[in-house]
Amino acid sequence: MKLADNLAHIHNEISLAEKRYGRSKGSVCLLAVSKTRTIAEIMAAFNEGQRHFGENYCQEALEKIEKIERPDIIWHFIGPIQSNKTRQIAIHFDWVHTIDRIKIAQRLDNARPENLGPLNVCVQVNISDETSKSGIVLDAVEEFINELESFKKLKVRGLMSLPAPTTDFEQQCKPFSVLYEKFQELRKTRPELDTLSIGTTQDMLAAIAEGGTMVRIGTALFGPRVT
Ligand SMILES: *Cc1c(COP(=O)(O)O)cnc(C)c1O
Repeated sequence: MKLADNLAHIHNEISLAEKRYGRSKGSVCLLAVSKTRTIAEIMAAFNEGQRHFGENYCQEALEKIEKIERPDIIWHFIGPIQSNKTRQIAIHFDWVHTIDRIKIAQRLDNARPENLGPLNVCVQVNISDETSKSGIVLDAVEEFINELESFKKLKVRGLMSLPAPTTDFEQQCKPFSVLYEKFQELRKTRPELDTLSIGTTQDMLAAIAEGGTMVRIGTALFGPRVT
């Protein structure tokens, strides 16, 4: 079975990279990026033990989440957030990785149902891609987190980034290393921050080398996206 093989291969790569880069065993969590994938593909990964899934498009995600209806799946929202989607995101997801506006955080906080417990959030940081509108600049991160801490139903877990793609390992490491430095600095006064969401299929090893704790993998698990 292809997907089972892919999943085992990724787990093996993560585990080897943890050893090679002096990371502790099990310190890197695999987030399966299931945008554009079918319910059957998601369930195949679930049946192989995968529990964390990441989705980018709210409407597509809701249709799948409602049909799958597995409370033991941890759903992560990793796409750009439109303000008219905040209510659905706050209800159906466990994590949001792409927080970069206070207005959006405010709406998620308002809409998060009390009985679900806090929504885990990461602040999206724009490190290397000046052309991208997503993410806040490094210098604004600490102030932004201070503001987020006033929202009672959001739990700030860490930082996320999606740097401009490159195939060169050293180049991949650079933005991750800058982000890791900021993460460590923030953790001095906020030890509860435990998540550095970096790395995709192309730059997973660089992300692990530079201290990533959650890698977001789509292509290496499910194959190339056709849409
Ligand atoms: C699509 C996506 C990924 C996964 O990318 P792959 O190259 O398929 O592993 C990771 N993070 C974000 C934010 C994405 O949109």
